[in-house]
Amino acid sequence: MGLFSTKRVSPQASWYLPDNDQYAYRDGTRLDTSSGYHPHRSTRFRNLETVDAKRRDRLPELYARRSECCGCSACAFACPQDAIALEPDEEGFDYPVVDAAACIGCSRCIDVCVFKNRGGA
Ligand code: SF4
Ligand code: SF4
Repeated sequence: MGLFSTKRVSPQASWYLPDNDQYAYRDGTRLDTSSGYHPHRSTRFRNLETVDAKRRDRLPELYARRSECCGCSACAFACPQDAIALEPDEEGFDYPVVDAAACIGCSRCIDVCVFKNRGGA
């Protein structure tokens, strides 16, 4: 056997998979954890089931596609409620997760995000 293995690392390996059962998307749907490799598609929330529809409407959608977030964590630093934590996705890259129970819908996290404000004056 050579020094370097040619074995490919599958993204389905268990160490790639965060505990997706604790997350939901803002519309209330949950991440697909039924089988295999399902990268999350947009902002993940925890404790979403604890807030009513009115509060849910005010929760921030920090990114609607993963390409809209670079994991800079500016949103987490700006949040007065400490409601945002950077947590790894299925590929080990950190993305912000919002604690719906702690969020007050102030939008500071959106205001500081460079991806949301690139076209601003
Ligand atoms: S500030 Fe924007 S780009 Fe930075 S981690 Fe938060 S959502 Fe992602
Ligand atoms: S809307 Fe306000 S309270 Fe909610 S996550 Fe963003 S900064 Fe924090």
